[in-house]
Amino acid sequence: MAKTDLILLAIDSSPTQDLLERALRAAGYVVAHTPDAESLNRSLLETSPVALLVAHNLNGQDGIELAKVVLERFPTLPVLLYADEDNYPLFKKAIRVGVSDFLHPPLRIDDIVHIIKENQKRAEQMGDWVRREVRHSTASLEKRMNELETLVKLGQTINSSLDLDNVLTSVVTAAVELTGAEEGQLLLLDEETNELYMRAGRNFEENFARTFRLPIRDSIAGQVVHSGQPVSFCQDSPSKIKTAYLVYALIYVPLRVGDHVIGVLGVDNRQNKRPFTQQHELLMSVLADYAVNAIENAQFFQQTEQERQKLDTTINNIQDGVILMDVEKKILLINLAARKVFGLGLNDLTGQLINKTIDNDEFFEILNSSIENPFKHHEMTFDDGRVFRIQHAPIPEIGSVVTFEEITHLKMIDRLKSDFIHTISHDLRSPLTAIMGYVELLGRVGPLNDQQKQFVSHVQNSAQNITALVNDLLDLGRIEAGFDTHKDEVAFDKIVQHTLDNVNQQVLEKGQVLSISIEESLPMLRGNPLRLRQLADNLIVNAVKYTPRSGSLTVNLSHETDQVIFEVIDNGLGIPPADQPHIFEKFYRASNTPQNAPGSGLGLAIVKSIVESHDGRIWLESAVGQGSKFVVVLPVYKQEDD
Ligand code: ADP
Repeated sequence: MAKTDLILLAIDSSPTQDLLERALRAAGYVVAHTPDAESLNRSLLETSPVALLVAHNLNGQDGIELAKVVLERFPTLPVLLYADEDNYPLFKKAIRVGVSDFLHPPLRIDDIVHIIKENQKRAEQMGDWVRREVRHSTASLEKRMNELETLVKLGQTINSSLDLDNVLTSVVTAAVELTGAEEGQLLLLDEETNELYMRAGRNFEENFARTFRLPIRDSIAGQVVHSGQPVSFCQDSPSKIKTAYLVYALIYVPLRVGDHVIGVLGVDNRQNKRPFTQQHELLMSVLADYAVNAIENAQFFQQTEQERQKLDTTINNIQDGVILMDVEKKILLINLAARKVFGLGLNDLTGQLINKTIDNDEFFEILNSSIENPFKHHEMTFDDGRVFRIQHAPIPEIGSVVTFEEITHLKMIDRLKSDFIHTISHDLRSPLTAIMGYVELLGRVGPLNDQQKQFVSHVQNSAQNITALVNDLLDLGRIEAGFDTHKDEVAFDKIVQHTLDNVNQQVLEKGQVLSISIEESLPMLRGNPLRLRQLADNLIVNAVKYTPRSGSLTVNLSHETDQVIFEVIDNGLGIPPADQPHIFEKFYRASNTPQNAPGSGLGLAIVKSIVESHDGRIWLESAVGQGSKFVVVLPVYKQEDD
C-alpha cells in the first residue's frame, strides 16, 4: 500500500466516523472527511482516492444516489456503503448502482481495514485488466489503421499508374504484407489453354514465376475459378496445390469481372504453419477488387488508345488541314495537312500553345475574329501564292477546331474565267457601239417603211440588251478586281430615294403598292456612290420585276449601332429553296423565273460583290408564292476610317 493511499469518508461527524477514521489511519491510510455532497465533490476533483465510504444518510442526503453519481464518473473507484444496521433491501439497491461492499455496526477495526483492502485490491486488478484491454485494442486498432493505410496507398497507385505490371505487383505485395504470408501470387486464366499463369508474384523465383502454368482442373486455384468462391485452409501436414508445391495454409480469392472469373489472387505459407484469419480473407477480397479494377482500367486504356490511333490515322489522311485545340488554345491534335500549311515538322506538338507553334499574324486575326462569328469562312493567301479557305468553329466541352481547305486551283480558275469575260466584254463593246450607231443612222439616210422600222427597233432592243450585259460584266470584273477602292462619305438614304423615284413610274404602271420607311437622320456610309446606287437599283428593280401586278413592295432603311440595314421586301414570286444557295452566283436565275422575264442573272452577283467590297453582309429570306426579302447590312462611316 502506498503511503498516500487516500480514503474519503462521506459520513456525518459522529463517533462512528471517529472510529472509522482512527482505524484507517492506524492501518496507514490517509483519510479525508467529507461530511456533505459538496465537500465530497470537491475532494473527488482535487484528489485521487483509492476508496470512498459513503453513509446511507449523509446529512439528510441519499447516500445511494450520491454513490450512483460518483460511480458514473469514476466507474473503477471502490465505493462502500455504511448503514446503521444490516439492511438487506437497502444493500440490494446499493448493489444495483455499483456499490462494491457494505459496513454496518457492530464495527470491528480489523473487519473495516480488511474490507477496504479487499476492495482496493479488486479495484487494482480491474484497473490492470482495463489497461491490458486498452493496450490490446489499441494494438489491433493500429493494425487496422496500417491495413487501411496500405489499402489507401494501393488505391492511389492503381488510380495514378497505367503500368499494369507495377500495379499488380503492388497488389500481391500488399496481400503478402497484410496477411503476413510467406508468398503471394496473382494468377490469370489463359482461356485458350485453360491454364492459370502467374501475372505477378511475391517471393517466387523469377524463372519459376515465368514458367508457372497450372491446369485449372485438379487444382485449388482452378476450383476457385470454377466456383467463383474463395478458398482458405490450414492444416498440420502440407497440402499439394500443384505438383512440387506443398503448403500448410492458404487463401485464394477469385478475380471477378461481373459474372466472369478471370483469375485468382492467393497467399500461402509453405514453411510455417501459421493460419490465416477471416480478416485476412476479407482483406484479400478487397485486394482482388483492386486488381480487377486495375486490369479493367488497363484494358479500357488500351481500347481508348487504339481508338485514338484510329482517329489519328483517319485525321492524318484527310486532305484538309485540321487543328483541334482546347479552350486555352493548346493543341490537342494537328494533322499532316495542317502541318504542311505552315511548314511545321513532325515533332509532337500536343499540349503546346498554338501561338507559340505558328508564326502567322493573319491566321491569328482570323482566329480572333471568328470568336464573334464562328463557322464563317475566311480566305488566307500565303506569300507563295497558296490560298486556303479557313473555318474556326467551337466544339462544346473541348475547345475549337480549325480546318484548312486549299482553294488555290479554284481561285486560279475563277481568275481565268474573270479575265476571259473581261476580254470578251471589251472586244464586244466596240462592235456593239458601231452597230448601235449605224442602226441609228439608218432612219436618217432615207425613209424606212413600217416593217423596216420594226426590224430596226428589234435590232436596237437586242443591241441594248447585249450592251447592258456587257456593261454588267465589265462592272462585275471591275468590282471583283477591286478597282473601286476609292470611297467617300455617302448619304445612302438619298441614293435609295433616287432609285425609288426612278422606279415610281413602273410601280404605278403595274398597280403595285409601295411602302417606304426611311429612318430620319440615317448615319452616313463610307462607300462608292456609283456602286451603292447600282446595289439599290438592282434589288428594287428586281422586286418590281418579279412581283405581279397589284402586288406590294416595301423598302426599309434604318440603322442599329454602327450598321445600316437596308431591306427590300416583296410579296411576289419568291425563290425556291433549292435555288436560294446559288442565287448570288453569276448568271444564275431561279427555276421559277418566267421565260419572258428580261435579265441575265448578273444583277445579284453584282450586288453581292458590292456588299462585300463595302465590308457588308447580304442574305435572303424567301418562300415560293409568298415573296422575298433581301437584307443588306453595311457598316456606317467612321472618322477613323479615313
Ligand atoms: P436577273 O434579274 O437579271 O435574272 P439577278 O441576278 O438580278 O438577275 O437575279 C437572279 C435571279 O434571282 C433572277 O433571275 C430571279 O430568278 C431571282 N430573283 C431576284 N430577285 C427576285 C425577287 N425579288 N423575287 C423573285 N425572284 C428574284
